[in-house]
Amino acid sequence: MKILQLDVNSISYRLIKPEASVYEESGEKERKISNALVMLTSVEAGDTARMGEEAVDSSVVFAKKQKIGTLVIYPFAHLSGSLEQPDKAMEVLKAMREHAKKVFDGKVEHAPFGWNKQLSLEIKGHPLAEMSRSYGSAKGAKRVEKDERRKLDLSIVKKSDWSGLPETDHRTIGEQLNLYSGQEISPGMTYWHPEGWIIYQELVRFMREKYYDYGYEEISTPALANVALWHVSGHYDHYKDNMFMVGYESGDMGIKPMNCPSTIMIYKTRKRSYKELPWRSAIFDKLYRKEVSGSLGGLFRVQELTQDDGHIFITEDQLDGEMVSLLRLVKEVYGTFGLKYTPKLSTRDPNNFMGDVGLWDKATDALKHALEKNGMKYELKEGDAAFYGPKIDFDVTDSQGRAWQCATIQLDYQLPLRFKLAYTGEDGREHTPIMIHRAILGSLERFIGVMVEHYQGKFPTWLAPVQVVVMSIGEGNAKYAGEVYEQLRKARMRVRVDDSGRTLEYKIRDAQMRKVPYMIVLGNREQESKKITVRDRSGKQKQGLTVEEFVETVGKEISERKPEQAY
Ligand SMILES: [Zn+2]
Repeated sequence: MKILQLDVNSISYRLIKPEASVYEESGEKERKISNALVMLTSVEAGDTARMGEEAVDSSVVFAKKQKIGTLVIYPFAHLSGSLEQPDKAMEVLKAMREHAKKVFDGKVEHAPFGWNKQLSLEIKGHPLAEMSRSYGSAKGAKRVEKDERRKLDLSIVKKSDWSGLPETDHRTIGEQLNLYSGQEISPGMTYWHPEGWIIYQELVRFMREKYYDYGYEEISTPALANVALWHVSGHYDHYKDNMFMVGYESGDMGIKPMNCPSTIMIYKTRKRSYKELPWRSAIFDKLYRKEVSGSLGGLFRVQELTQDDGHIFITEDQLDGEMVSLLRLVKEVYGTFGLKYTPKLSTRDPNNFMGDVGLWDKATDALKHALEKNGMKYELKEGDAAFYGPKIDFDVTDSQGRAWQCATIQLDYQLPLRFKLAYTGEDGREHTPIMIHRAILGSLERFIGVMVEHYQGKFPTWLAPVQVVVMSIGEGNAKYAGEVYEQLRKARMRVRVDDSGRTLEYKIRDAQMRKVPYMIVLGNREQESKKITVRDRSGKQKQGLTVEEFVETVGKEISERKPEQAY
């Protein structure tokens, strides 16, 4: 049995037509349910009612902890390739509903079985809002898996099937521009092709420059750590099902799903004084989070990801100033991409929090103050904070009008206690620092997916995999094209030369398909005057420029990461 558990602001569905040979009648054709924990459920061959009940129990524990009042059991065939017979699957689902009604004090809802439904979900932003689990081992699945293994023929690459998607989808564009691929041998992980890796590296470079300005220090930590670490951090209790585990002689090791615990281990390598705080650490390591394979797709739902992650350790007195500067950084970063954003401030849940109320109030005030000081209008989400501290989430709106949760700034009073972190204060005594978890782009994979759709592949020049194509009109212009190409290469531009025997129209169309920002067209006139003609993606042309002028203007456009093209 495969379960994808989602903590949602809302779920709505519409019944289209019966799909399975066995299906449930339903009076209502459309439903919308707010604030619920949704169990998308695939019943697999050989699953028992007992497994279903076990899955319900686990979701009920989560719902109680997160104070969610409604549980929705939703039959969802897409999580598995070896489904149970419809009549048997329906029995298991019915048993799950009955059991849920017995063990859950809130409302239990379900969607009818056997229908083709249109589903839409608004999933909450917190890191535990999406979790996948599997129960038992389907009889069918085992057999299929064995066959698959034998069949896995590596003589040809089996790419993820991204056909039939909308033209605006990042997978379609990614394929057209040859940015990345998914492959069956690494589900939910990204093969970055040279062009896509340029975008990735440019984003990292951009953040590194900001980190330099804002006084961060970059670190890197091992992917694997003994489970002891995950016990102390609490991941073992709360997140084990989503972790990849590896056996080793000194006991099991977990592959890191988050950077916080290992960052803490660096903090703890020596004594710290208040004089060294704030300690702003940044980290770009790869993280692994196990999800059921059917729920994966493109760059948005992955198992391997990198965050522009960072952890700041501060004294209580530093909270105010640190938050003001952190939000300024967020503003600068999103400003570069021309992204609109909405900050959402989540405050203390009076029924579920740890620590001192006065401290919480002070922290919340500091966050409000920092938002106001940066002129950011925010939404207040009262009682929405996790038990360990208030937070600010940023929803970013792309050019298609869709909102994506990217940045998170989370105050944490809990992990420093669990790990017994300390610094020596001005008074010579030991104090516990506050920890701030923060990511601005969020996961680089997802952010790149969002950016690919936001720009529809027409990246600003600083992000474009190829920035300039130099084209010769006639064969006699090839040498001059080569000289111009060399000059641009020396200026460290990402430039290609097209001196093929093809027609100019063809060369232009080819560069336009690749969405290259600048084309430099060179014919006899340019060659004789030692000038260049520049053409942009939309076809606008400018004649009579020198290479030096172009290098200076476009060089500035790139180094300043301007959103608009200079020519
Ligand atoms: Zn963290």
